[in-house]
Amino acid sequence: MPIPFEGGCHCGAVRYICSEEPTTVVNCHCGDCQQIAGSAFITGVLVPEGSVKVSGELKSYRVKADSGNGITRNFCPICGTRIMVELEGGVGVGVSYTTLDDSSWLEPAIEFYTSKAQPWINLCSNTEKLTDMT
Ligand SMILES: [Zn+2]
Ligand SMILES: [Zn+2]
Repeated sequence: MPIPFEGGCHCGAVRYICSEEPTTVVNCHCGDCQQIAGSAFITGVLVPEGSVKVSGELKSYRVKADSGNGITRNFCPICGTRIMVELEGGVGVGVSYTTLDDSSWLEPAIEFYTSKAQPWINLCSNTEKLTDMT
């Protein structure tokens, strides 16, 4: 397990390094994630709060997630790549799986909001499936 692990945005203006081992990897099929991804779901690497050090400028906005908890979404203001979300309620930080320099050592373990998953995708065979967030 390559701890710390690093990643960054598409244009290279934002880089980050994470000093802690991920707690889990999730696929989220909620409506917000689908809209933001421009695709069927987002894959997020959950890490403890405070374990991600960012270099470069992030822009962010805070919304209420489908779960009712606040969520701050951070992205590169130049290329728009979603870097990470700060999840309130002690859940931690979700780093976008697709921004890791090397994500080959991680795979999704949980799927959230399978009730909202697009009917044309096949869910992973070995994940825990939750119809919503809880
Ligand atoms: Zn960028
Ligand atoms: Zn979601």
